[in-house]
Amino acid sequence: MSEFDGLVALVTGGASGIGLATAKLLQERGARVAALDLKPEGLPEGVLGVQVDVTDDAQVQAAVAAVVERYGRLDVVVNNAGIGAIGDVTANSDEEWARVLDVNVIGMVRVARHAVPHLRRSPAAAIVNTCSIVAWAGVQQRVLYSATKGAVQALTLAMAADHVREGIRVNCVAPGSADTPWIGRSLQDTPDPVAARAALDAFQPTGRLVTPEEIAHAIAYLAGPYATATVGTTLAVDNGMHGLRLRPQA
Ligand code: NAD
Repeated sequence: MSEFDGLVALVTGGASGIGLATAKLLQERGARVAALDLKPEGLPEGVLGVQVDVTDDAQVQAAVAAVVERYGRLDVVVNNAGIGAIGDVTANSDEEWARVLDVNVIGMVRVARHAVPHLRRSPAAAIVNTCSIVAWAGVQQRVLYSATKGAVQALTLAMAADHVREGIRVNCVAPGSADTPWIGRSLQDTPDPVAARAALDAFQPTGRLVTPEEIAHAIAYLAGPYATATVGTTLAVDNGMHGLRLRPQA
């Protein structure tokens, strides 16, 4: 018997990186899984792909309804779709602020809004939001992105308080730099992507980036039956980046 046998999970941004690793892992552990994504391509066999833009409430409503129609229930929601933004506070236009907040924060709200009525009927309901260590670490040139992830952490806590007595646990994971297509794209924008990657690896306390699978395992833990007393927390999966203060190597 696996932890998620008989349960149904949906994962936004489930076609790439952290979301894809999570969809795979939840399926391996017994869940029937739907990946909601702008481009639901390249999914493992058996994972239901649903094309959805989380900025479109009608699409989100239809996608959640399609998952429940197909599988008859919904137990686990992984709110993971997100986009980045670069720059200091002078860099981004109002339109960019609205766009990134729309995807990274209101996107999670839309999914939860339509999922919660179904989760209320689940005996094993959980929501896991993907935050980031930038919610509490000042990282240069990430003002807009960091503001969205700070909002995700506050959203997680408020949702956890609202729904804990209904049996819906809400938590979030906070990855550090993770080896996903996202990081690959941002390295391509540097003058020397190979050197930039080596520098990013060297910057990590462990000397390497976090893997999407490591984050997927943290998400599965928070969503699963071993975390039934864990509510409103943020689980860092960041190679110790946030908490550690290492001396320079001699
Ligand atoms: P990724 O780019 O590999 O995957 C993101 C997925 O989200 C893609 O499949 C994309 O199509 C989908 N997506 C984007 N906008 C969408 C929308 N409007 N509607 C539906 N789907 C949409 O990125 P990733 O690295 O796997 O990041 C996933 C999450 O992890 C994001 O929330 C990101 O902020 C967070 N995160 C990533 C890192 C990192 O270093 N990679 C670190 C901390 C937090």
